[in-house]
Parts: sequence; C-alpha cells; structure tokens
Amino acid sequence: MGVNTARGESQERALLTGRFALAEVPCAACGSVVGWNYVAAADERQAYKAGTTILEAPRIRQ
Ligand SMILES: [Zn+2]
Repeated sequence: MGVNTARGESQERALLTGRFALAEVPCAACGSVVGWNYVAAADERQAYKAGTTILEAPRIRQ
C-alpha cells in the first residue's frame, strides 16, 4: 500500500474543528481513497493544518 501525492479536486467539508477545503488522497496502488489532505481552512486558527494529511486508517490494507 502506498500513498501518492496526486490530488483530486478539493471540496469543502465541515469537520468538528471547522470548515476546510479537503482533497482526497488516493492509494498509489489501487486508487481508492485512503485519506484527506487539508488544502485550506476557513478559520485562520486552523490554517496551520494546511498541507497536512489525515489518513483514514480503517481503509488502509496492506
Ligand atoms: Zn490500495
């Protein structure tokens, strides 16, 4: 399993910590979505998260 850096289109999502523009992070091997990359935050206090990735561990298969 690998994660590549390709990004799909970002989409706005409301998370517990606020609204963010998130881009899907696809698995490099099979293309299934394995996480999200923070593209931008609506709240500047959350802006430091831009560029970081959230992996959805339950979807990751070895
Ligand atoms: Zn995969």
